[in-house]
Amino acid sequence: MNFENINFIKSANQVSQFPEDSGSEIAFVGRSNAGKSTALNAIFGRKNIAKTSKTPGRTQLINFFALDDGNRVVDLPGYGFAAVSKEKRKQWDELISDYFRTRDALKGVFLIIDSRRMITELDHLFLEFYLPLDKSLHVILTKSDKLKKLEQIEVLQSTEISLGNVATIQLFSGTKQDGITVAKQRLNEMFEY
Ligand code: GDP
Repeated sequence: MNFENINFIKSANQVSQFPEDSGSEIAFVGRSNAGKSTALNAIFGRKNIAKTSKTPGRTQLINFFALDDGNRVVDLPGYGFAAVSKEKRKQWDELISDYFRTRDALKGVFLIIDSRRMITELDHLFLEFYLPLDKSLHVILTKSDKLKKLEQIEVLQSTEISLGNVATIQLFSGTKQDGITVAKQRLNEMFEY
């Protein structure tokens, strides 16, 4: 698949605004600031597919992008802004659970985790919700350039211990452009599954 051929389709803040539920879709999910936008931009070879440095608490939208062959990539709003109000968090929860509950086209998730912070409580909450859906999971441990080689190995090993039986896992650095080929391979596999 030609991953550079990616185009924005639309943003949605309710189910009725989602594109038609056909074809295949992979969603990018993660805690705010984990490096999701940077990873999307690095994998798809664009500077601004996903906007980095967002304002905390701004309207939370699901962004849909089209690839070749009716495949889509979905950028879900990041979770875990400390500053987000209870009301906003409730909206996020509802929108996201609506998306996961209803979306047949969803083939898998790329879960973005900051390699220095490891799996957080919010990631566990997401996984409690997502894993019972029995869809594919790939974990991207971002900002690996900020870790020493030994630390990278330790993070990878401890993530393998907690998630290795339900997910594939890789180290990644958008800054250093490391891990892009592996990420693309996993995307291809998930789309074809
Ligand atoms: P998002 O909120 O998950 O979309 O996170 P962003 O992609 O906006 O990244 C959050 C911060 O981490 C920004 O300051 C990025 O420049 C930084 N960042 C993201 N990925 C990397 C990486 O691979 N290496 C380093 N050193 N910094 C990164």
